[in-house]
Amino acid sequence: MAHEIHLKNNKYRQWVKAGLGLGYLKEGLAPFCDDIGRQQHNDIINKIQQTKTPQPNVPCGTCQITTLQPDHVRVSKGICPLNQDKCNCCFPNNKRPCPNNVCGAIYDSIIQYHASIPPVPFWKNSDVQQWSTEPWEVCKCFINAPGYKDKTSAVDTDCTGLLHVIINNNYFHSHIGCNVAGPNNLFSKVRQYRNEIFHSSNMELEESKANCYIDDMIAVLQDGKDLLHRQDAQQAVRKLQDLKKKDFIITTVDFDEILGQINEEMKKVLYSVDDAATKEEYDDLKKKFIEFKTKMSEEKEGEKLENEKELSELKKTIMELESQMVQEKKEKLEMEIEHADLKKKFTVLETLVSEQKEVKQLNDVCHTCICIFALKKIKIIC
Ligand SMILES: [Zn+2]
Ligand SMILES: [Zn+2]
Repeated sequence: MAHEIHLKNNKYRQWVKAGLGLGYLKEGLAPFCDDIGRQQHNDIINKIQQTKTPQPNVPCGTCQITTLQPDHVRVSKGICPLNQDKCNCCFPNNKRPCPNNVCGAIYDSIIQYHASIPPVPFWKNSDVQQWSTEPWEVCKCFINAPGYKDKTSAVDTDCTGLLHVIINNNYFHSHIGCNVAGPNNLFSKVRQYRNEIFHSSNMELEESKANCYIDDMIAVLQDGKDLLHRQDAQQAVRKLQDLKKKDFIITTVDFDEILGQINEEMKKVLYSVDDAATKEEYDDLKKKFIEFKTKMSEEKEGEKLENEKELSELKKTIMELESQMVQEKKEKLEMEIEHADLKKKFTVLETLVSEQKEVKQLNDVCHTCICIFALKKIKIIC
């Protein structure tokens, strides 16, 4: 059951309000992203089936991003015709074509739909083995930030991720009135809000700032092309408008929503690469998480048993996240060792190759004087 939570500190209340706004923005964007993502996926698969010979065999669940051979081929050494940096086409040696004749073409389509110049699909968020059947796995290649690998649908993805998909995917642009490619456009501005709110140094916000955030979120959902005509988006607008009323109520359910969002942020931070910043950000989010939990427990008078249960759950979540962090660090270390080992192997091979070359040169010399011996010590005799 939802209990009302009274927050005496108005700036804290405004921060909670902005956090709730982010949740509503995501609610309003997710069905739209899901629909357009499906349309795009249909278009890609239909085109492949109509134009490719032999007829593609869908689904394909065997390809890997590291070994997939694209349909396009490099122009010359290191030059990709689609301008993707470090494209699979530039390293053809260990690549193999999709046995079902479909994944290479999807790879090409994703690069072609990417709005950045040059295109920078974020392959790590996506599972190639699901490309031919799961539209969201294709959409996730347009989220240029780590931490979305386990998100299997638009509903599962936070508003930052959804805005990445809309901004970075050309296919979405014809469904958006705002020029998302333009400088300082509204969609790109709102994309920063989640970060600004959850990674702010404290959990306080001026009322005017919170209202500005919410006004911009409303403006995104009222974009004149498709969103304005979608019921789900407009329902989210009404929830955002309610937040702006002076007497809006914050309940324990709202607190749970914010807790869930902070939890998600913590997981995302674990995927970041910068170690020092990661630790700091993680600790900061953990502090916010605990503060929230404590506040909620305080509000639930007479529900001691439940509080105890919640606190033990909180402890479990934090322990899980910490063990994840340790695991990630371990994997990173293993990768570094593997890298050093490969480098060592490479040096040994390089030495061997140069030695071989030397012997070959000697051979050449010997052949010119019709000597049958090719060893260094014989050279002088020749
Ligand atoms: Zn290429
Ligand atoms: Zn394949």
